[in-house]
Amino acid sequence: MNHPIAGTTRLFGLFGSPVEHSLSPLMHNLSFETLGIDAVYLAFDATPDTIGQAITAVKALRMGGANVTMPCKTAVIPYLDRLSDVAKMSGAVNTIVVEDGVLCGHNTDGIGFLRMLEQAGVSPVGKRMVILGAGGATSSIVAQAALSGVSEIALFNRKDEFFEKACSFAATITEQTACRVTLFDLADQSQLREQLLGSAVLLHATGVGMGQLVGQSLVSDRSLFSPDVVVCDLIYHPAETKLLADAKAAGCRTLNGLEMLLLQGAEAFFCWTGEQMPLSLVRDAFCQQGL
Ligand code: NAP
Repeated sequence: MNHPIAGTTRLFGLFGSPVEHSLSPLMHNLSFETLGIDAVYLAFDATPDTIGQAITAVKALRMGGANVTMPCKTAVIPYLDRLSDVAKMSGAVNTIVVEDGVLCGHNTDGIGFLRMLEQAGVSPVGKRMVILGAGGATSSIVAQAALSGVSEIALFNRKDEFFEKACSFAATITEQTACRVTLFDLADQSQLREQLLGSAVLLHATGVGMGQLVGQSLVSDRSLFSPDVVVCDLIYHPAETKLLADAKAAGCRTLNGLEMLLLQGAEAFFCWTGEQMPLSLVRDAFCQQGL
């Protein structure tokens, strides 16, 4: 680090568990340093049991702001003073902005995803999107997409104990916005085929395809991929999941989740500092990490 840590240096941080491998410290410290901002960003292990104490520390230490990751994105909400519309609708916070001691929870995942599409020249406004998985990342993307003019979202999730919760989330977004959100059983491949016809985007938002599930895909029938659909995967390691490789082989345009990671971070950085993140430098740094 080139800039010296001094008595004036402001602290920013990440709360979640595990956080050791997070790219957020790299992204934000490089940006502070490049722009000459007297601040430092550290990762702190926090769980739903300790997130309340962590938020007390944000206030007591007068931290500049923070990110929140799994498993604390929902658990942090009761400790915050205010929520943005997207954070409220999605029930999840990934960024805390401190304004005159008031802590406001935002969720920048949806903005990151939509900016990634915009950057690639893809607009889902007035169109349908299909999303596989109805977890935390999906809820932020759905809330942001619904507020940004996407007309229809078809969610597919496995029918387990979380299905009912996803169903009421879909109903709430449909009620509160002009976007119709419907939840389907992931096992219903004929419904998936029907929903994909005429959709602008297929987004995969589960962990299938990474870690121990590398080489697996939720779309086993390649004929479901129509070349008109842009296929996105939130996973960025590996850079090309089996789902993306299959979609590409079927003639679809594909995008992985690395730009979304960068752009959701850039939005948090802007909320904290009012400055644009130096994106190409951060992209280069990601590249040096083998991403
Ligand atoms: P999450 O809240 O834990 O949700 C996971 C979702 O995946 C749930 O809908 C879950 O279904 C489903 N799922 C898990 N295993 C499955 C399986 N074997 N078969 C079918 N569905 C399965 O996680 P999240 O925060 O939404 O993250 C989802 C993915 O996005 C992860 O890979 C994460 O790394 C990635 N992500 C990327 C970015 C980025 O910036 N690129 C940002 C956030 C997340 P159930 O509800 O039925 O369990």
